[in-house]
Amino acid sequence: MENKKVTLVGAGLVGSLLSIYLAKRGYKIDLFERRPDMRKANISAGRSINLALSDRGWKGLEGVGIADEIKKIAIPMYARAIHHKDGTTVHQPYGKDNQAIYSVSRAEINMRLMDLAEQQKNVKIHFNERCTSINRKNMEAEFENTETNSTTKIKSDLLFGSDGAFASSRLNMQLSNDRFEYNQHYISAGYKELIIPPGPNGEFLLEKNALHIWPRGSFMMIALPNMDGNFTCTLFFPFEGEKSFASLQTREQVQKFFEEEFPDAVPLMPTLLDDYMNNPVASLVTVKCFPWTFDNKIGLIGDAAHAIVPFFGQGMNCGFEDCVVLNDLIEKHKEDWSEIFPEYESLRKPDGDAIADLAIANFVEMRDKTADPKFILQKKIEARFNSKYPDKWIPLYSMVTYSPQIRYSTALKEGQKQEAIMQKIMAITDIENKWDSEEVEKAMLNSIK
Ligand SMILES: Cc1cc2nc3c(=O)[nH]c(=O)nc-3n(C[C@H](O)[C@H](O)[C@H](O)COP(=O)(O)OP(=O)(O)OC[C@H]3O[C@@H](n4cnc5c(N)ncnc54)[C@H](O)[C@@H]3O)c2cc1C
Repeated sequence: MENKKVTLVGAGLVGSLLSIYLAKRGYKIDLFERRPDMRKANISAGRSINLALSDRGWKGLEGVGIADEIKKIAIPMYARAIHHKDGTTVHQPYGKDNQAIYSVSRAEINMRLMDLAEQQKNVKIHFNERCTSINRKNMEAEFENTETNSTTKIKSDLLFGSDGAFASSRLNMQLSNDRFEYNQHYISAGYKELIIPPGPNGEFLLEKNALHIWPRGSFMMIALPNMDGNFTCTLFFPFEGEKSFASLQTREQVQKFFEEEFPDAVPLMPTLLDDYMNNPVASLVTVKCFPWTFDNKIGLIGDAAHAIVPFFGQGMNCGFEDCVVLNDLIEKHKEDWSEIFPEYESLRKPDGDAIADLAIANFVEMRDKTADPKFILQKKIEARFNSKYPDKWIPLYSMVTYSPQIRYSTALKEGQKQEAIMQKIMAITDIENKWDSEEVEKAMLNSIK
């Protein structure tokens, strides 16, 4: 293969990983990033977000042999720890056999991926370079240097837009493409980050190996562990309404609200009021669009193609899976991009849409149902059935999180079928007392025939 030149717009999580995949195949990669080099400048990767990395993401990292490197900065979380309003905490394991999802800091993983990308001799990352336009006809992208305001035009054989949820590459394609489908949806909740710092000896003040959730119906707080003993807490909260960002204006209101809703967390949050008053509120968007590829030369990948809300913990995982799928197609079609691109978008679009819908549905599950005894019982029945009949029933959460061999679109369909079955099972009289009986087991076996 001739040494094809590839321009990547955006050195976030997916762009950095994609550059490694393509570099290993011999492509020459120029990766342009709007922000300064976060390894040198003291900036956060957007916010101090930490992310749950699960099997699809690990598979993406393993594909280029860097999973072990990332494991060093990842903390396994084996269970949800549900914090009730009365101060009690209940554990709900995520899977079986010590299955875990892993907490990684978005900034840390981004920086590691950049290091690993730069270890490839054919990858060059250009910082402070904002993509301002893409000329499809002559495959020329224009970048504006954010420090000097100078512009550079770069020609390449292929270009990928990996510039995230508000991708300028996507906007460029939208403006230059007839019949570009575009749908953007904001949910009515936003989020604010808060912190639980380590204890006096650097110790974790909550259980380290769990994803902590304070589900409260129309809102929730979650906390994920960081390597340095901190927990990043995220309050997902309606923008408007009786209990909302709009209704909490003063320090007194914030203090009262947190003491009422999250009584066990407040003593662990010494900077709560300053953090709440100072930290920004961010919105949560789903973006669906199509096509994802143009002229067999330009592709969208990661959030640029499919931004989703974070409630299934899958945005990054899905983006890493895009890289795996693309890599498999490069192999299959022997570098013929006129075959690769059409199959990439036709395979991945239904999966992107499916995980977007699943993520919205999981918001309701996390903030509302995880505290509901009926829901907990339903999950217990499913887990029991799965352990007896692993070939017949994989719970939706496990399909999405631990089963990269199952497509998101398949998981969505299977999950819908399962939910219909479970509605009937949960309606069995006295299900609370006979959930582990032969009768219930038989009813489930019959309904999946
Ligand atoms: C609160 C929250 C929690 C989340 N939790 C999880 C989770 O638990 N698990 C999970 O898998 N995912 C999670 N996600 C989603 C995850 O963060 C994204 O899916 C992931 O970052 C997407 O990677 P990306 O590389 O496509 O985009 P990004 O990481 O956004 O990277 C895009 C890059 O492009 C750059 N850029 C933008 N415009 C330009 C331009 N014009 N020119 C040049 N560069 C540009 C940006 O500076 C950035 O570096 C969460 C997201 C949020 C908001």
